[in-house]
Amino acid sequence: MSATPGEPEPTSGSAPFRPRVPAAEWDDWRWHMRKRITSVAKARQWINLSPEEEKAIAGSAGKYRWSITPYYASLMDPDDPSCPVRQQAVPAPGELVEFPGAEVDPVGDTYYRRTNRVVHKYPDRVIMLVTEACPVYCRHCTRKFHTTDVHGTYFRDDEGGSFDEDLRYIAEHPEIRDVLLTGGDPLSYRDGKLEEIVSGLRAIPSVEVVRIGSRFPVLLPQRITEDLCEMLSRYHPVWLNTHFNHPKEITAESAAAVDRLLRHGIPVGNQTVLLRGINDDVTTMRTLMTELLRIRVRPYYLYHCDNVTGVSHFMTSVEKGWEIMEGLQGHITGFAVPQYVLTTRIGKVPLARPYFARTADGLRLRNHQGQEMTVDATAYPITEPDAP
Ligand SMILES: *Cc1c(COP(=O)(O)O)cnc(C)c1O
Ligand code: SF4
Repeated sequence: MSATPGEPEPTSGSAPFRPRVPAAEWDDWRWHMRKRITSVAKARQWINLSPEEEKAIAGSAGKYRWSITPYYASLMDPDDPSCPVRQQAVPAPGELVEFPGAEVDPVGDTYYRRTNRVVHKYPDRVIMLVTEACPVYCRHCTRKFHTTDVHGTYFRDDEGGSFDEDLRYIAEHPEIRDVLLTGGDPLSYRDGKLEEIVSGLRAIPSVEVVRIGSRFPVLLPQRITEDLCEMLSRYHPVWLNTHFNHPKEITAESAAAVDRLLRHGIPVGNQTVLLRGINDDVTTMRTLMTELLRIRVRPYYLYHCDNVTGVSHFMTSVEKGWEIMEGLQGHITGFAVPQYVLTTRIGKVPLARPYFARTADGLRLRNHQGQEMTVDATAYPITEPDAP
């Protein structure tokens, strides 16, 4: 775990000037939101931009949003453009290249959208796209057209304020027992607005579980205040899934944010995206998953990176994902192993290679070391046997 200092150290030599920030400001999430990096000049206070990055920043202007919190910038290597944190937040030339097969919405959110904000794809649960705002606009965002395309978001301005239609849809579909607030990042809203939404959902008797998908614990953990956690804990059961992609993102601040959530009874899970050049190797993934357990975050999904317009350069092969999953399964604590899935129009589909095959004489099994065994059909018959 790397501790992020309350006051970033000014660095020497060729490294850029890193602003000294008093702790009272550094610990205040609103300060970070106000001071977000949105220009080359501001970025240069934190990192030495490469010519390719500068070109990509200029090229993506007016097409994709760009913003970085000072907190997240402080995790970046000032001199190395291949830094895993930096690649997630600083535009790269690849995002302006149209790859073969790339689509703006390969997972079909727009197809399953039932109201301005509700996407109803699975029988018993929905996602609610409550905002298109995020503290950092991740370059690999799967909803890039929604969160970072400055022209192409879902939201129609005239519908921006009211959630009545969305809540009504959920109330009129009592089969919906699980509502996942996402976006954008729901915690971009101030606590009062968030409470309006969560209490609105709680007032619907058929809604059993409220889930929040938020990257704030990673991008600006100071947002996870005692007040926020206390408010959310009044609407239990509330679950939160966050999005750590690299061990460098696990800091003293992020661990403290997770601890606050847990102490208020909010279980914290994690969804990682498999990203080329960032976390596409077994060692990094093993470290990430085991470090997550150390801060009591439960790995949930490992997403294969979809071929999303503007994101394709982060894609790996599915074979690479298999290799990584085989390097996790059996090698680390069972519940540190996420489920490797591909998000598609027909839902999330598990991708990991099976560890067994049905054969005529039983089951062929394989373990994490590649050892194989057959358990015979007497023990595991194809049809359920009658009791003797
Ligand atoms: C991911 C997702 C959900 C939640 O799925 P879980 O597998 O239960 O986490 C719900 N609706 C949509 C449209 C989704 O993409
Ligand atoms: S925080 Fe989440 S929704 Fe927002 S840009 Fe990053 S990945 Fe996308």
